[in-house]
Amino acid sequence: MAGKRGLIMGVANDRSIAWGIAKAIHAQGGQLAFTYQGEALERRVRPLADSVGADLVLPCDVTTDESIDATFAAIGKKWDSLDFVVHAIAFSDKEELKGQYVDTSRANFARTMDISCFSFTAVAQRAKAMMPHGGSLMTLTYLGAERVMPHYNVMGVAKAALECSVRYLAADLGHQGIRVNAISAGPIKTLAASGIGDFRQILRWNELNAPLTRNVTIEDVGGAGLYLASELSRGVTGELHHVDSGYNIVGMLRPESAPE
Ligand code: NAD
Repeated sequence: MAGKRGLIMGVANDRSIAWGIAKAIHAQGGQLAFTYQGEALERRVRPLADSVGADLVLPCDVTTDESIDATFAAIGKKWDSLDFVVHAIAFSDKEELKGQYVDTSRANFARTMDISCFSFTAVAQRAKAMMPHGGSLMTLTYLGAERVMPHYNVMGVAKAALECSVRYLAADLGHQGIRVNAISAGPIKTLAASGIGDFRQILRWNELNAPLTRNVTIEDVGGAGLYLASELSRGVTGELHHVDSGYNIVGMLRPESAPE
């Protein structure tokens, strides 16, 4: 990744999936810029950015075009081009990440879609202007987009739309050499995940039922993020790449292989 420059959006702390990807890319020589959402998170993100030699650390709230424009304008002042963007951003009212999907409110449906789905398209609109030689855009999703998971509710609907937008963006931007992919990560204990009802139970279930019989780490996802950001994945676009210990392939475990 030496000589490549990219933007990492969605680090909240050192448990963030975005941080796992940032570490993996930095270890291979990639140069990074970071965004943070609000002053409280800035205090956490700056020291992490310092530790990987990043001096472009910018505020960005993806709910406004002005904020996203300001972020890309600030990057454009320092860098003439971008090679990759990692979008690891999602939000929903935690009151609606428990109970049933059928009770979702109109306001939270719209907000969840805006932050967790549309923001990736909004970022792609700005990033493409900075990728004259092509590039790689990636976002993070979860199996709750494909199958019903307890409490994932409206976030599952937003992730399904996000995965679909990955395909449309890949088709739109392919002729510019810009690849667009999603990583579907298994459950990981992060700040965002702590808002999901009974998350510990989901972690335990995944660990017991995934072929690798363990949960994934941010380093596992980091490896996949590095691959998607790099030339190693140059022929890959519009792809949904699962990094979930194989949980997504399981219909039912053989009784003899199921844990006691
Ligand atoms: P996290 O809490 O570390 O990261 C979520 C990030 O979203 C935070 O940095 C937060 O500041 C940012 N964000 C929320 N609203 C924003 C806004 N309006 N503007 C800008 N940033 C905003 O949690 P994480 O689990 O690392 O989440 C990263 C991504 O990974 C999310 O898209 C999440 O849905 C996805 N994901 C997580 C898991 C999991 O189990 N943790 C599994 C699959 C996918």
